[in-house]
Amino acid sequence: MAGLSLEHVGKKYPNGYEGVKDFNLEIADKEFIIFVGPSGCGKSTTLRMIAGLEDITSGTLKIDGKVVNDVEPKDRDIAMVFQNYALYPHMTVYENMAFPLRLRKVEQSEIDKIVREAARILDLEKLLDRKPSALSGGQRQRVAMGRAIARQPKVFLMDEPLSNLDAKLRVQMRAEISKLHDRLGATIIYVTHDQTEAMTLGTRIVVMKDGVMQQVDTPSKLYSEPCNLFVAGFIGSPQMNFIDATVGEAAGKITLTFGSNTVTVPDSKAAALKPYVGKVVIAGIRPEDVVEEHEYAEGKTLSEKIDATVTVYELLGSEAMIYGDVDGGQISAHISATNPVRTGDAIKVAFDVDKLHVFDKDTELAIVH
Ligand code: ADP
Repeated sequence: MAGLSLEHVGKKYPNGYEGVKDFNLEIADKEFIIFVGPSGCGKSTTLRMIAGLEDITSGTLKIDGKVVNDVEPKDRDIAMVFQNYALYPHMTVYENMAFPLRLRKVEQSEIDKIVREAARILDLEKLLDRKPSALSGGQRQRVAMGRAIARQPKVFLMDEPLSNLDAKLRVQMRAEISKLHDRLGATIIYVTHDQTEAMTLGTRIVVMKDGVMQQVDTPSKLYSEPCNLFVAGFIGSPQMNFIDATVGEAAGKITLTFGSNTVTVPDSKAAALKPYVGKVVIAGIRPEDVVEEHEYAEGKTLSEKIDATVTVYELLGSEAMIYGDVDGGQISAHISATNPVRTGDAIKVAFDVDKLHVFDKDTELAIVH
């Protein structure tokens, strides 16, 4: 297995469009890296440049310390798994996995060993004699993974490998890919537009937008310390609440005012906001950090009470989401399913201010979180 290094990597398409701009990333051996972002942000282009399927127009790509910009895809020691798993329909599961090894003229006894080991890892042992047409979608995807594993590459590249599966199967395969990563100790680079997939699989996540890397971090850091408004809004579902607020200063405390509401900022966040006194910023608070009056609890630093009117109530199971209007904005909150609040109710909420994020309205960069 191997580490990768991308230094100032860029892609300018022949029509002049820059699909990827100045991409810098060191990927350590055995990392599970996710590229995530909305459609068209440059995830696949970056992955395809690593695979060698797309020319790198600027910068340097190294695998295991060796520059591979001009190395043919087949010589990069990389295996790629696509969303269209493209199995050979006339071949059995066994032969589908053995095929890349036959092309490399590996001996039959060695092929047999490798294929059976891959089948064991992926729980395909009982299916080795079947043709793809006799497999479920999830099993086919496992065979495609098996084919990649059998090649014993240094790096696995996966481009939305689960997007053709139904929701239940996707969750199942997600868990399997996670286990696979543990078992193989492999370096994996995985592209998805699905932030849940990104958060559950990645050891580190690269968030991209318009060809530009926005932030690289662990899932928990990305969630708790998004570097800008885009990352804050993209990671987390339902989305973080954003409210325009004016920064004020009263009795030595920093406050945020929206409509008739004022929220006092904890001292730990005050210093960063001082230069913004008198200016409008964007306050960000996740739905689980907006606490409804019935659920006020010890141990949280709650803000002043905010009057709200519930416009939508959605029961999710053990939890519910409420969406409501507050003076100066709108707010969503996670509540317990046992909470009696319903659509139309006038309620009071408070922010868990230790979890408050504030963004600069012009640059959209995080000021404090
Ligand atoms: P993603 O995988 O994040 O959805 P892509 O990497 O496929 O995005 O594409 C990034 C951007 O580059 C998109 O805006 C896309 O339209 C553009 N693009 C992709 N291929 C080409 C091409 N051959 N010529 C010009 N632009 C392209």
